[in-house]
Amino acid sequence: MKGKKKTTAKARISKKEALSLLKKADLLEVGTTADNMRKALHPEGIVTFVVDRNINYTNVCINKCTFCAFWRDAGAPDAYLLDRDTLFDKIEETINLGGTQILLQGGLHPDLDVDYYCSLLRSIKKRFPVNIHGFSPPEICYIADSTDLTIRETLRILLDAGLDSIPGGGAEILSDRVREVLSPRKILSSRWLEVMEAAHMLGMRTTATMMFGSIERPEDILLHLDSIRELQDRTGGFTAFIPWSFQPGNTELQRKLRGGRKNAELKGRRNSSRLAPHSLPGIYPATAVEYLKVLALSRLYLDNIDNIQASWVTQGLKLAQVALRFGANDFGSTMIEENVVAAAGVSYRLSKEDIIDAIRSAGFTPAQRDTYYNLITKY
Ligand code: SF4
Repeated sequence: MKGKKKTTAKARISKKEALSLLKKADLLEVGTTADNMRKALHPEGIVTFVVDRNINYTNVCINKCTFCAFWRDAGAPDAYLLDRDTLFDKIEETINLGGTQILLQGGLHPDLDVDYYCSLLRSIKKRFPVNIHGFSPPEICYIADSTDLTIRETLRILLDAGLDSIPGGGAEILSDRVREVLSPRKILSSRWLEVMEAAHMLGMRTTATMMFGSIERPEDILLHLDSIRELQDRTGGFTAFIPWSFQPGNTELQRKLRGGRKNAELKGRRNSSRLAPHSLPGIYPATAVEYLKVLALSRLYLDNIDNIQASWVTQGLKLAQVALRFGANDFGSTMIEENVVAAAGVSYRLSKEDIIDAIRSAGFTPAQRDTYYNLITKY
């Protein structure tokens, strides 16, 4: 896959300039510049969405990331591994609702091996004409390591069994300093990038994500954006970038830092800007201003990625509408089912009609798309 050309005629924004924007620039100034870039890239005024469902085949996970409220130990009373009939019912319902894709992700279950994943993929492909957007880099590495295969070999096997594209989950912040706290057992940044590069080289398209608003510093955000931009320059395999903010509810990270937050509040101090060097140990969900600023900066920095997704799942419908004027051109997915963010106590629910209305009332033409951003239906 050839590297994509930069999509703007202007010189690309440097890391230093981006850092300065993130730390000091006025929100509306960055937002307007990002909106102009969005208009240049998508002059037709269309905002897309995909009809799909998140199917989390298991919540058993050995990684136990501190920011994640979804995982369970294998013996926990609410630990599960979906049986095939339940999985097929979910896919059938998705297709009946006009769905074209399933997002298939789960924890790192110690009893599953590459044969399980291949058989799962084949059984779905045999029954349903659906794009399987599945297994983020930590899952791919787990399958590879437990089978003694290289990442490329693992991807080749999964591709042959029916895997179509790969979601950008498990990136969080591609800074190992931050990963050490958020997810010490998870793959390092270099391996996340290695999986994505190998997938792109095999002709698979993937998305890239970033979870911010926890303990990272502005420099970590820039390191993340720069790693994605550099890889995209070489492969052109990312279809979209999806920044979303940490949801602290029910997470170990929040419990660990709650004491720090209380102390901070007692002193009358507010963690008013995570985008200034982190000085307080308390964790607060990213504010609307922080979200919009990071979103706009992502649009500006990732000049080689066509699509930036607004995250209504974490930000709610109204802020997602505003995001369409801060660089986003995609509304993500209808998410007929979502379990991971919901486990943190954040549960926005939208129908396809809600999404169409939201996009239209924000001044854009709504359009359903497929995984590869081909338009299916304009509304
Ligand atoms: S984020 Fe993923 S890898 Fe980490 S504990 Fe949750 S399910 Fe497991």
